[in-house]
Amino acid sequence: MVMTEKAQPAPPDAGPKDRFMAAAMGQTPPTPARIGPERFLAKAGTDPGQAFGSKFTVHAGTVGRTQDGPEAQRAHEGLLASWQPGPLAIYLHLPFCRNRCLYCGFAGQNPEEGLVDAYVAAMVAEIGHLGSILPPRPGPVRTIYFGGGTPTILEPGQLARLTGALQKTFDLANDLEMTLEGRVSDLTPEKIPGFLGAGFNRFSLGVQSFSTQIRRSLGRHSDGPRAASLLAGLTRLQKAAVIIDLIYGLPGQDVPLFLRDLETACQVGVDGLDTYQLNTFPGGGLDKAVQDGRLPAPAPLAEQAAFYLEAAGYLAGRKWRRLSLSHYARDTRERNVYNPWAKSRRDCLAVGAGAGGFISGHASYRLPDVQAYLDGAQKGLFAPDYLTLPTGDESLSSLIVGQMELGFLDLRALSEQEGADPGPIAFLARNWREAGLVELKGDFLELTEAGRFWGVNLTQALVVTASESREGRAPKTGAA
Ligand code: SF4
Repeated sequence: MVMTEKAQPAPPDAGPKDRFMAAAMGQTPPTPARIGPERFLAKAGTDPGQAFGSKFTVHAGTVGRTQDGPEAQRAHEGLLASWQPGPLAIYLHLPFCRNRCLYCGFAGQNPEEGLVDAYVAAMVAEIGHLGSILPPRPGPVRTIYFGGGTPTILEPGQLARLTGALQKTFDLANDLEMTLEGRVSDLTPEKIPGFLGAGFNRFSLGVQSFSTQIRRSLGRHSDGPRAASLLAGLTRLQKAAVIIDLIYGLPGQDVPLFLRDLETACQVGVDGLDTYQLNTFPGGGLDKAVQDGRLPAPAPLAEQAAFYLEAAGYLAGRKWRRLSLSHYARDTRERNVYNPWAKSRRDCLAVGAGAGGFISGHASYRLPDVQAYLDGAQKGLFAPDYLTLPTGDESLSSLIVGQMELGFLDLRALSEQEGADPGPIAFLARNWREAGLVELKGDFLELTEAGRFWGVNLTQALVVTASESREGRAPKTGAA
């Protein structure tokens, strides 16, 4: 797990509820003094990469009022019991890691043997608990994601106990995507057959950079050539999709160095990759290292745009397909089912300490306290610590987030299906077109490359503006 768009821990000093909001729902945008769509105007007549002064949020979407304690527990059990069978995702959180990478806000537990066994047993019990409340053989389950932490540090047998429990309890789709997140140094010839035997058909690996100097400066253990060679060993098998995360904007990294990372990814034969923008949080390990002078400052936001645009051009030139704002596929093996599913907040069951999910429009989250999770499991208690109430904007938000992740928005559907007032949206779209962020083609708004870099800002602006226009809260200023 890294401090990127995919994994989004809150700043280290945030309280549990703040962490929940950041982890499960994304951070809320700063609230400018202005109201109405004007607060989301971009700077036109400048480099589109500098269209906004800051990122509004890490993940776009709306946030509902939260419940906690027994209220959340009762409400969650009620939601599970009344769940209408349909396509489903499952997220399992393995909060164990031996590393302390500077850019990662994850304070993971060391994977002590007895502790991990007890944790796996508790997760198996939670899977059984879900099965006892949901309708028989719930599903079809389309995607399962084992995240963390670094789940690859578990022994294959421990992971197989979990996948076996899932197989027994749920109706798994024939084309199920089952992802194991982790680090390349665990991809040893001893462990890989066990991972494959446990049923994983996709690996999502946090490489971040192939530069040994950068990896070491950030706290990664293996060097760049070893990471590349371990990856090549896995891709040569042709048994599973292999996906890597690369971060841009790291201290000491320039655009040519990042393009060399992409070149290495192409050479080792990965099936897909994510290019993540570095997020630095005040008071975090990376921020402290920069403040202490141990590391140079990371690239500011305006320079990060150059990394993004150069990477998009490089991969397009090699005929990689873009599957979402930051995710690319080299071949048809990579489908990227889980991430868009979770971002658009479709039903996703959450298992384990620190896991977040969605059920019938409610977001749930459990704090990453392993001992509290084990204590609860002993008593048969598996309630989330927090649960949101729906805002009524779930369908609208899901439409906007889901389509914008793919680089477009159907404006007619937004208006006719979701009841958004087209005026404020058209007002923003005209400004964004002048700023070089979107094009308007018939009923569709399409993102340019620079618009994709600012995709989360544009998405959040659309969700907020469409929601407010529907409720009649926003002034219709400037709207044609
Ligand atoms: S290896 Fe551990 S510390 Fe490093 S990014 Fe992954 S979860 Fe965070």
